[in-house]
Amino acid sequence: MNKIKKYYLYIISGILFFGIVYNTPNSNKKEEKNMNKTIKTDKEWKDCLTPEEYKILREKGTEMAFTGKYYKHKEEGVYICAGCGDNLFSSKTKYDSGTGWPSFWEPISGDKIKEEIDKSLPFVRTEILCNNCGGHLGHVFNDGPNPTGLRYCINSVSLDFKAEEDK
Ligand code: FE
Repeated sequence: MNKIKKYYLYIISGILFFGIVYNTPNSNKKEEKNMNKTIKTDKEWKDCLTPEEYKILREKGTEMAFTGKYYKHKEEGVYICAGCGDNLFSSKTKYDSGTGWPSFWEPISGDKIKEEIDKSLPFVRTEILCNNCGGHLGHVFNDGPNPTGLRYCINSVSLDFKAEEDK
C-alpha cells in the first residue's frame, strides 16, 4: 500500500515539476511576444476595416498608382497605420519618388515595421508590414534618396495622417 502511495507521489511530483518547467516560461514568452500588439481574427478585421483597407492591409493588395490620397500630400505630421493607429512615418522623411505612391526614406523607428521576403512576382521584393498589427503597408527598395538610400513605397490606403497640431 505504501509503495503504491509513494509511486503516485512520484508521478504527481513529476507532473508538477514538468508543468512548472515547461509551461510557465512558455506562457510568459507568449505574453511577452503579444504584449501591446493588436491581434484580431479575420472576421474582426473585416468588421473594422473598409473593403478596400481589408484588401490591401490583410490580403496584401496594391492600390493603383497616382490614385491614393497621400501620394501628393505635403502637410507636416505623422503617418499612422490605418489598421491599428501606430505611428509609422514622419512627414519629414516623405519625398516625391515619382512612382505615384507615398514614399519615405525611413520609418519613424525601426521597430515599427517588419520586413518579409515577397516572392509573389518573378523578382524578389522586400515587403513592409506594420509590426504592431501585421498589416501590409507596401515594399522597400534600394533606389531611395540620401541619407538612407531606401524607398519605402507605401499604399495610401494603409495609412492615416495625424497633422502636427493634432499630436
Ligand atoms: Fe498596424
